[in-house]
Amino acid sequence: MGCGRRPGAYMSDLKPREFLMIPGPTPVPDAVLEAAGKHPIGHRTPECSKALREAVDGLKWLGQTGNDAFVLTSSGTGAMEAAIANTINSSDRVLSVIVGVFGERWAKIAEAYGASVDRLVVEPGKAVSVDEVKAKIESAKKKEPYKAITITHNETSTGVINNLQGLASAAKNAGVLSIVDAVTSYGAVNLPIDDWGLDVVVTGSQKALMLPPGLGVIFFSSRAWQAHAKCNTPRFYFDLAKYRKSLEEDTTPFTPNVSLIMGLKASLDLMRGEGLEAIFERHVKLKTALRAGINALGLKLFVEEDAASPTITAIIPPEGITVDAIRKGLKQRFRIVVADGQEALKGKIFRIGHMGYVFERDILMTLASLEAVLSDLGHKTRPGEAVKAAVSAVR
Ligand SMILES: *Cc1c(COP(=O)(O)O)cnc(C)c1O
Repeated sequence: MGCGRRPGAYMSDLKPREFLMIPGPTPVPDAVLEAAGKHPIGHRTPECSKALREAVDGLKWLGQTGNDAFVLTSSGTGAMEAAIANTINSSDRVLSVIVGVFGERWAKIAEAYGASVDRLVVEPGKAVSVDEVKAKIESAKKKEPYKAITITHNETSTGVINNLQGLASAAKNAGVLSIVDAVTSYGAVNLPIDDWGLDVVVTGSQKALMLPPGLGVIFFSSRAWQAHAKCNTPRFYFDLAKYRKSLEEDTTPFTPNVSLIMGLKASLDLMRGEGLEAIFERHVKLKTALRAGINALGLKLFVEEDAASPTITAIIPPEGITVDAIRKGLKQRFRIVVADGQEALKGKIFRIGHMGYVFERDILMTLASLEAVLSDLGHKTRPGEAVKAAVSAVR
C-alpha cells in the first residue's frame, strides 16, 4: 500500500494470529479453550468424575477399543515411560524399530529401565519392512525371544507412517508384546486397537487431540496386564494398577490436570460430531493437497507417497535456500510456524504439521504463504500454481 513497511515487520500489536503448522502443539478449537479455561473444579467431585468418564469413553471410541484407557498428567513421553515401566523387566529383550528420533526414544527409555534392546534402524524417510521385523523376531526366538517390540506408528521427525497393522500381527503371532507410540497418528489416522491386536498404545494431548500440551493417554490390553502382573520394575506415579483401581470409581490416583480433562471431553465431543471416517479422510486430504502443492512449487518431498504420513510432511528446501530462511520468512511475514528437522536432519528438511484442528483452508494458506516466501528468497515460482495444484488434487 506504499506505506514502505518491510514485509514481516509488524509495527503495532495488531497482527494476524500466530498459526501453528508444527507437529505439536497444534491449533486448539475455541470450544476446547473455553472448556479448559474455566476455573478448575475439585478433582474428587461428581462433575470431574463425569468429565473423566466421558473423556475415557471418548478415547476408547476413537481408538476403537474395549481395552483399558488411562489419562495421565504428563507429556506424551510420560505415557511412553509408563508403557515400559509397567511391562518390561530389567534384562528383558526388546526390539526397537527405529525410523527416526521418536523410535530411538523408545529404545532409550527401555534401556533406562534395564532392558536389553536390539535396534532395527531404518534409513530416515523410509518405513520399516514388516518382513525384516518378522525375520528379527524369528531369529531372536533361537536364543532368547523378545518380550516386546516398540513401534512408532507415525514418525514425526521424518513424516513416515509405518504399516502398524502388519507389524502388530507379526508381533502377536510370535507372542511378542506390541508397544506403540501413536502420538501423531491416534485421532487422525485409522487405528483400530482391538482389530489390530495392539497391546500398549500411547498418545499425548497436544497433537491430533486438539488440546494444549499436558496430558498423556495410554491404552492397555489384557496381554499387557499379564505382563504387568509379572513386571517388578520400580514405579510409583506411573503404576497403572493405581490408575485402574481409581478409574473404577471414575477418578485418578493423583490430582490430574482438571482443566485439560475438561478440554479433552470438549475435543472428543467435537470429534464424535465429525465422525471417525470423516476425521481420517480429512487428514488424508490435507496430506494429498499439501504434497501436490509442494510438488508444484518444485520442492522435493522427503518421503515417498506410499510411506507418507497423513499428519506431517517433511520437505527438502530448494538449492541455495536454507530451512532457517524459510522458517523465518513464514514466521515474520505471515506468523505461520513450521518446524525444522530434528537432530541429524536439522537444517536439511522443514516439516509442516497438519493434524487435529486443521483444514484445507489452512493448507492453501500455508502453500500460498510459502510460495511468497520462496519467491522473496529468489526461488522461481509460478504464482498461484501451488494452490491450484493443491485444490485440484483433492477436488
Ligand atoms: C510429540 C511426540 C511424542 C511426545 O512428545 P512429548 O513432548 O513428550 O509430548 C512422542 N512421539 C511422537 C511420535 C511425537 O510426535
